[in-house]
Amino acid sequence: MKRVLLLLPTTGYRNKDFLAAAQALEVEIVAAANYCHQLAPSWGLAPIMALHFDRPEQAADTVLREIGGRPDAVLAVDDAGLELASLLCERLGLPGNAVSAVRTLRDKLAFRALLQAHGFPCPAFHPLPSDADPDTLVPELGFPAVVKARRLSASRGVIRADDADALRGAVRWVRAIQARADRDAEALGLVVEDFIPGREHAFEGLLQQGQLTTLALFDKPDPLDGPTFEETLYVTPSRLPRELQVHIAQETARICRLAGLRDGPVHAEMRVNDAGVWFLEVAARSIGGLCGRTLTHLLGVRLEELILRQALGQPVAIARSAGAAGVMMIPIPRRGLYHGVAGLDEARAVPGISGVTISAEPGQIVAPPPDGSSYLGFIYARAENAADAEAALRSAHRQLQFDIRPEYPARLVTEGGTEAPRVLS
Ligand code: ADP
Repeated sequence: MKRVLLLLPTTGYRNKDFLAAAQALEVEIVAAANYCHQLAPSWGLAPIMALHFDRPEQAADTVLREIGGRPDAVLAVDDAGLELASLLCERLGLPGNAVSAVRTLRDKLAFRALLQAHGFPCPAFHPLPSDADPDTLVPELGFPAVVKARRLSASRGVIRADDADALRGAVRWVRAIQARADRDAEALGLVVEDFIPGREHAFEGLLQQGQLTTLALFDKPDPLDGPTFEETLYVTPSRLPRELQVHIAQETARICRLAGLRDGPVHAEMRVNDAGVWFLEVAARSIGGLCGRTLTHLLGVRLEELILRQALGQPVAIARSAGAAGVMMIPIPRRGLYHGVAGLDEARAVPGISGVTISAEPGQIVAPPPDGSSYLGFIYARAENAADAEAALRSAHRQLQFDIRPEYPARLVTEGGTEAPRVLS
């Protein structure tokens, strides 16, 4: 029986999908989790180790000491474990990506430098060290600008700024977000780059020894113009002209080659306008959230199964079927305490809707980007063509009413007792 070391994030959407795929393939899973053992029971699998994924050298030493026997593959379920996974592959002599490749692609500043060095369309960009005054950038900036944390994902810590005042506010806010989410925040600083107008698309692919297979190209039919950038709709097949789709796939493959990425899933995001294709990201992982489920029908296989097979060097068979599919990452309308949802039956009954999954738990605090990085849930559609899939998603979403209430006001304890509740902003 093949054995895979799976690096699970503590708060990932897809842990269960990977475990289910492993079961279907009769692969033994050994799990290591990011930090905390406590979530293990809900996964149905006890991780043998809790590791600091963001300290990959130290974590790799722990794995090599504890694992007892060499696994056949090491796989990270999401961004957080990518560097550790490639480091372990290097040390264990397993096929995988070079650590340097993964590191370059995870860092928004290094990624921009790579694109610029090789002549890809690339906005003007500037590092902003943690102690630097953003006003020093103003003379060189073409507003609108976009302020970004260096290596967060799901649009967390990404804010558009239209003038110097907004830039100051955005930098303060993104610095605070990065400080909470990345323990290297101080050393990393931020990136500020020109805003790229245009429609956005996402590419999903699989690399096998340097050869990139396209799994899907998605359109994101809603404009994403900021000031914050919450993902919503993904629809495939893309309605872009065929030549442009081929160009996107070729350019994604070229970036992978230049970065040194050779194996495993690839997720890329790009904006398209009259001046060309502008890459925002090429990541050594698959599509986030539970969006991958939307491809199962079109590819005839679960995305997680493809990824596991590729990692184990097993044949990867795709049985494509015609038609379109789409997913909506249900946006969070405002920050607050999630209480529940009405209209689920109505949403599920919309023609073309193949599923609605609510992933928020009652009692959970939910927040849209740039602070949050989760969704209320996912709506899935299947249809003959992309326009119908998009219409079904929009119609199902209109059926849902989310009950999100203000967070419990904080009680401030003073010398004289407890003060009246106050909502902290
Ligand atoms: P993440 O990895 O967190 O998704 P990205 O760099 O991909 O970070 O940015 C998130 C979103 O912010 C993008 O999908 C896009 O909509 C928007 N965005 C980021 N950079 C720019 C830019 N330079 N111009 C316009 N929009 C941008």
